[in-house]
Amino acid sequence: MQLSALRERLRAAGAGPVHEQRVLRLWSNALPQSSGKRRPEHFLPAALLAALPALESELAGLARLRSAHPADDGSERLLVELADGQTVESVLLPRDGLCISSQVGCAVKCVFCMTGRDGLLRQLGSAEMVAQVALARTRRPVKKVVFMGMGEPAHNLDNVLEAIELLGTAGNIGHKNLVFSTVGDPRVFERLPQGRVKPALALSLHTTRPELREQLLPRAPRMTPQELVDAGERYARATGYPIQYQWTLLEGINDGADEIEGIVRLLSGKYGVLNMIPFNRVDGLDFRRPSWERAAEIARTLHRRGILTKLRQSAAQDVEGGCGQLRARHDAPSAP
Ligand code: SF4
Repeated sequence: MQLSALRERLRAAGAGPVHEQRVLRLWSNALPQSSGKRRPEHFLPAALLAALPALESELAGLARLRSAHPADDGSERLLVELADGQTVESVLLPRDGLCISSQVGCAVKCVFCMTGRDGLLRQLGSAEMVAQVALARTRRPVKKVVFMGMGEPAHNLDNVLEAIELLGTAGNIGHKNLVFSTVGDPRVFERLPQGRVKPALALSLHTTRPELREQLLPRAPRMTPQELVDAGERYARATGYPIQYQWTLLEGINDGADEIEGIVRLLSGKYGVLNMIPFNRVDGLDFRRPSWERAAEIARTLHRRGILTKLRQSAAQDVEGGCGQLRARHDAPSAP
């Protein structure tokens, strides 16, 4: 379901702009429609009141909890079932964050990612993205939403931007606490600055070498690391939000001295932070994770050279935390 279709249905049931906003606010904040000082029957048109129970159960069915997997780091990975039985993953992060999915599967096919292995299965509607937030809020407060789960948000741009607009208004999330994460696509840099709600931006860099990037992210739009950083820098300066550059550390592939020099060349003086995340093991893939000591040494070296670098663990690692692994495990045929 798209949010635009939901709005039309509310209007058809007699909702004015204030009623519409109220219904969307309560839903996206996981509050009952009877919340507030004024009883809904004193406030909402009769036709809308009559339509609400069926609508509420339809909205609840957009994202249902299939299973929850808490981890030692305070995060909790959720396997979420959509109305057609497909599943996606959301991750509740420490400090009131939530990572949500924008697609079932993904067409970018990054060679180190479980989600990319089966390609794209379907797009998520904008209401299905907001429904992941509403579902998560039944478990914990959510004050930050990152679009870093399954899928490439740039490949579902209209729906993601529609969800971002609702979350940044009725959904009560501060605009800089909405994070659009992408491998980089020229359309993103055209559309994001035009939005009423401008999210922060995370760019998946992974290497400074254009030819290696084409191998690691085979279906990403052909933007070189330099073009990506130049476009990111313009957006960061325009919005006042630093870019988060993402780097999955793969032993022997993008953890060498050449990459450190490349990062210094590319990111010196830029308004951004480099998030390095050691590769999370995926069954069937031969990539290796560098030791934590090696990763920490790289981060320290970059710091000394003036690059703001944060070394992170992938959230919920101890519960098969690699993006898409929970879904893959769930969908795998059971052993005979
Ligand atoms: Fe898609 Fe992200 Fe996985 Fe790449 S890492 S295949 S963009 S979900």
